[in-house]
Amino acid sequence: MRNGRFTFDESIGGTGNSAFGRGHALDLGVELPQTTDRLVGVDLTHIIHTSDVADAKGGPGGGGGGGGGGGGLTFAPYTAGSSDGAAGFDITIEFKGSSWTTELHDIFVSAADRLVSLIIGEIPNVTVYGLKGGPKVVDDILITAELGNIDGLYGILGQAGPTSVRTDSSLPATATMKFDIVDVNALGLTVFSEVVLHEMSHSLGFGSIWDRLGLVDNGLFTGSHAISEYLAMGGSGNGVPVEQDGGSGTAGSHWDEETFGNELMTGFINDGPNYYTAMSAASFADLGYTITSDVQAWADSGYSLV
Ligand SMILES: [Zn+2]
Repeated sequence: MRNGRFTFDESIGGTGNSAFGRGHALDLGVELPQTTDRLVGVDLTHIIHTSDVADAKGGPGGGGGGGGGGGGLTFAPYTAGSSDGAAGFDITIEFKGSSWTTELHDIFVSAADRLVSLIIGEIPNVTVYGLKGGPKVVDDILITAELGNIDGLYGILGQAGPTSVRTDSSLPATATMKFDIVDVNALGLTVFSEVVLHEMSHSLGFGSIWDRLGLVDNGLFTGSHAISEYLAMGGSGNGVPVEQDGGSGTAGSHWDEETFGNELMTGFINDGPNYYTAMSAASFADLGYTITSDVQAWADSGYSLV
């Protein structure tokens, strides 16, 4: 089943010898916001392994991508969406760690811009307590993006997912996305941009809140919006096949790889391009978001690859 994928199974020690030098060490512990009457601090993150991503070397821009600039840049938070606090869905990203380049920053910005063109409806602001820096009003999700060293080349690529959800709707208010800069550089910008869009989708709830919402039954996703698009794609049955293999972090929170292959939201990033179907787009309506009315047009418009 895994034939043709780069298995990253060589054991190579060290923390890289790129121009980035010694990045700061990332802590895989998760900082959870305080639970209040409106918010539940909960670790819905998962560990991402380099073996979840196919060979980056074949893709355009693969290989040495991301090496420019030497890293070390800092960026102000970015808000995608209306940012007026009144209408529309907003994603705010805070950039942490020591290994940022403009190219890597822009990958997160592009993914957030892409997702706020899908999710268009405002959800209630919520005040998040217990984080460094004091209480924050979150409109509508705050994602902390972090690059640094985890375990050197191969092995753990990163960790991502929600760290709190709203009590009433289960929609995430905070999320973390952290990646091992050595692996990011090895993947290259094109593949990494697919990884970021995939993981940001988890951070908004794809896969990560399915169980909380009771959306998976007998290995099938039962949300009506996604099913409708699945049937339109030629699928059949009472639900969308969900991945059963791959262990925790993969099984139960993705579309089935053997059914959907290069769909971006399967559990494996294949040799590219990987693409978002209308089915994945529609599944955000099943989570409770208000989304664009024409998911097929949204999917067809593609997404920004650097
Ligand atoms: Zn995933």
